[in-house]
Amino acid sequence: MSDSCHPLHTHTKLDRFGIWLSSICAVHCIVMPFILLLFPVMMKWAHLSRMTDVIVMLIAAVFALFGCILSIRHHKNERPLCLVIIGLVINLTGRFGLNVFGPWLSQTLVIAGPMLMAYGLWVDRNLCKCFLKH
Ligand SMILES: [Zn+2]
Repeated sequence: MSDSCHPLHTHTKLDRFGIWLSSICAVHCIVMPFILLLFPVMMKWAHLSRMTDVIVMLIAAVFALFGCILSIRHHKNERPLCLVIIGLVINLTGRFGLNVFGPWLSQTLVIAGPMLMAYGLWVDRNLCKCFLKH
């Protein structure tokens, strides 16, 4: 690393961890319905899968929010934080809106939420690259 190159901000580590967790959550929510369709025997562990999903999503949310808030101090850009918050709201809407939206739309929202969060964190992480160029 040359002298002109600054180390990356702490938020990039939080962002990266948040991207991983929210991606795992999205993939899990895409794959799980198919696993339950193919192996109905797994139904008795479905509540465990849902609980793990909520815990992973909560941890992802904490890392994502802290990462974005730390980032705002350096980059003065609120866009990633907005994307993460919208992603969380979409995810929560899907989780609690099963009776209103039906199984397909609510599951789509549950998947779209963490994907938007991961995108927001990716944008946040890239702010640092932009910061280094200037
Ligand atoms: Zn940064």
